[in-house]
Amino acid sequence: ITPRDLGQILNRDMNYISQLFLNNLKHPNEPIEDMKLLQQAIRRSGHRIEIQANPTNKLKELEDRDIYPRPPADKSLLRPRPPVVTIMGHVDHGKTTLLDALRHSSIVEKEFGGITQHIGAFSIVLDSSATVTFLDTPGHAAFSAMRARGANITDIVVLVVAADDGVMEQTVESVRMAKQAKVPILIAINKIDSPKADIERTKRMLLEVGLQVEDMGGDIQTVPISALKKQNLNSLIEALVLQAELLEIKADYTGLVEAVVVESKIDIHRGKLCTIVVKRGTLRKGCVLVAGTAFGRVRLMRDADNNILNEVTPGYSAEIEGWKELPSAGEIVLEVDSEKRAREVVYLREDKKKLEKAEEDKVIVIQKAEEHRKEYEEKLKLKRKLGRYKLKQQGPRKSEYENDDKINLSIIIKGDVDGSVEAILDTLDTYDSNLCEMDLVHYGIGPITKGDLDLAQTFKAVIYAFNVECPNKIKEEAEQVGISIKPFNVIYKLVDDVKEELNSRLPPIE
Ligand code: GDP
Repeated sequence: ITPRDLGQILNRDMNYISQLFLNNLKHPNEPIEDMKLLQQAIRRSGHRIEIQANPTNKLKELEDRDIYPRPPADKSLLRPRPPVVTIMGHVDHGKTTLLDALRHSSIVEKEFGGITQHIGAFSIVLDSSATVTFLDTPGHAAFSAMRARGANITDIVVLVVAADDGVMEQTVESVRMAKQAKVPILIAINKIDSPKADIERTKRMLLEVGLQVEDMGGDIQTVPISALKKQNLNSLIEALVLQAELLEIKADYTGLVEAVVVESKIDIHRGKLCTIVVKRGTLRKGCVLVAGTAFGRVRLMRDADNNILNEVTPGYSAEIEGWKELPSAGEIVLEVDSEKRAREVVYLREDKKKLEKAEEDKVIVIQKAEEHRKEYEEKLKLKRKLGRYKLKQQGPRKSEYENDDKINLSIIIKGDVDGSVEAILDTLDTYDSNLCEMDLVHYGIGPITKGDLDLAQTFKAVIYAFNVECPNKIKEEAEQVGISIKPFNVIYKLVDDVKEELNSRLPPIE
């Protein structure tokens, strides 16, 4: 951190900052190595800013005390679980229609005729008692939200392609996402009832985008369906169950629960609700859960058919009541032993967030410091250019005039823009004298300020103003203290004047 960075953080000018350091500063752009000095200065400012010298170590320590990731389950404990399926595909190809049709095909639905509610996921139980869980937020928004948080809950993607439309932009996009997430694809060729349906053409198009469909030499299953007419839906579900068996989708039903948030919302009557899909363990009433920086104790669990559940095993979903805070979709849910532990985990995760933010800020500060350093070096280069004016104190006159301080000319240059100041310095470069020393006390952009005046007074300098204003107040003050301010709007005239000033200070030639 440089004093200038601190100035930006505190939103104060360099005068104020240098006061904080009790005038102990070398240069506004030079990083402050002395941590104690920096801390004292901040304390003097009255701000409460925490300085983390190295947050990375602490981050590691916090990670170690977190509850995620957990060690994988013992293989001998694994038992089959229902697959979790996401439906994807191009807009209007029939995703929503298919989800609705599937929802009503469940035997539970048939037997109880209950009203289904949208909770973000539902399971359908077949006559064979095989079960498939569907995430009922179609499209890839939900899929990417999950992926962004590293919670890959989908086991199989059902890609819906309308037979009358074929492969479209979002079809390709869905394929790309599923492949990236390494999730197997099953294709539902929809709208086979439509007079314009062309299944063969659709398959050829699928092949063209790299999907090796089954009856064209590949291993990706395709099932022709009509979501609208509820045709062949059983074949689709059977294909899913078969696929799940092939994939050996299994989970550990014991131990602490691990799940993923699919959806979350606030209900005016029931409070904070979120739907989860269990990945591991068996969720029961009273379990304490942590999801990100939210936690809660399970008060009530319901399924999409509004049934109150006693337990939720892997591959099933439930809407949960009892959250203190609302977790976000895609967040990983973990069970902990007690509320005390839940609080501790939430605190340390909040700490972690702060530290991560500090790390990000640090990167920005380093970038800023680098920019300042470059700027500083540029200015230094200019100064060195100017250094050529310094009297090379040689020759016979040296001893004669050694103590005569009149031989030195101090100047301050203020210009309207960077370019003009640079041009002035460049032109001054052509002046070469080994007799008189010119000292550039300060140069800058903008109108003449009180600060310039103070500097001029200290160094007995002449102020050159190129195309900049000089406020009347400053003019009057300068006159009072005997400082000369010389305004110019032509560079060479300004330079000529500097030379004249220099020459006037040269000792008279005998
Ligand atoms: P989404 O945007 O992928 O969710 O598509 P929708 O489910 O909203 O369906 C878009 C349109 O296609 C609607 O008008 C549906 O009625 C119609 N549609 C869906 N499935 C079928 C089908 O199997 N056959 C026919 N003919 N139309 C369908």
